[in-house]
Amino acid sequence: MTEFSTRAVHGPLEPDPGMALPHVAPIQQTTSFTFPSVREGIEAFQGSGTYLYTRKANPTIRALERHVAVLESAPVETPSGSRSVAREIDSLFFTTGMAAISATVLGVGAGGRVVCQGGIYGTTEAMASGLGRFGITVDFAPVGDVGALADVVASGPAPALVYIESPANPLLQVTDIERAAGLAHERGAMLAVDATFATPALERPLAWGADLVLHSTTKFISGHGVVLGGVVSGASELLAAAIEPMRVQFGGSADPFAAWLTHLGLKTLAVRMERHAANADALAVALRAHPRVSRVYRPELDRIPAGQLAAGGPMLSFEVEGGEGAALETIDRFELITLAPTLGNLDTLVQHPWSMSHVVVPEARRLAMGITPGVLRLSVGLEDVDDLRADLERALR
Ligand code: PLP
Repeated sequence: MTEFSTRAVHGPLEPDPGMALPHVAPIQQTTSFTFPSVREGIEAFQGSGTYLYTRKANPTIRALERHVAVLESAPVETPSGSRSVAREIDSLFFTTGMAAISATVLGVGAGGRVVCQGGIYGTTEAMASGLGRFGITVDFAPVGDVGALADVVASGPAPALVYIESPANPLLQVTDIERAAGLAHERGAMLAVDATFATPALERPLAWGADLVLHSTTKFISGHGVVLGGVVSGASELLAAAIEPMRVQFGGSADPFAAWLTHLGLKTLAVRMERHAANADALAVALRAHPRVSRVYRPELDRIPAGQLAAGGPMLSFEVEGGEGAALETIDRFELITLAPTLGNLDTLVQHPWSMSHVVVPEARRLAMGITPGVLRLSVGLEDVDDLRADLERALR
């Protein structure tokens, strides 16, 4: 190897003999992997399990996925005992939450019928509304109402997938996951739960009978507002058969650096969620007592089995007296609370679902879902709660 351009491309051909064992898994920022011999290369393509191409798998991404699977399969303590997941659980990481959701819906729902809750994250609803063009029939059931969900699931052809969000975005309705799983399974359907607002720190749907649990890791799981991502977890065989091919063929695979950043955030999830949730509880108390607030939305824990959701969680919504104008003025008066169209960051964020996160949902449907023009959604951060309370008081004055 003598020519400069060859040296520039290759560097030293021998690996660094002094390479140390890193304490934190390094970022393997590479699109592909090499093989010691052509035979091992061919075997890799025949499924030997060796890494070959990052769209399929990558060690940095795999480290995150294995960590998420460990969290999703942690036992859940309830007043009537401990619940655990019997199956072997795995996880698949995607470039965004929507990539994880769409791969799940396409992979499990292909050619069949999907029952989806209405009144959930606006882009999920918009995606579900458009599934007809892929040969998937979609019927909606009102969020948080298991009776209504049962009626829709029981009527018409047997669904392949029942898709719910608990707690739901933006009004925090909760669904009894065990009952939803039961009624899905009675008709031979899978149950998928988007638990982005709770994270595995507060809710582990697989222990309650769900087949799949999804998260936008863009939010609390990565936690710092610097990286997009999504993850789906469930039985290893189900992921391998139905969802992994969607990721490989439709290309929702994430970048190793995104997985590495997400993994770094994941490690502080438990302690962050404790503080997020305690702050949100305290703000909910203050808002309920406020004369300019007509309604506060928090997960109603008595509507679900004890232990399904370990705490009310980090999100809350509230309706400002005076409708849209009053709600928008409140946002402009915040000094500490930041207007940003996301959630799950370290700092407290506000957004206006009517004109922002749910604007893709038709107006009549937004109203039917209870998303009125006066509603504001808060993603409660880790600040001192007295400072947050003071900012709310000042803005609502
Ligand atoms: N699920 C929920 C509940 C969400 O709130 C969001 C985004 O806000 C998503 C999924 C989509 O996630 P992403 O923005 O990472 O695609």
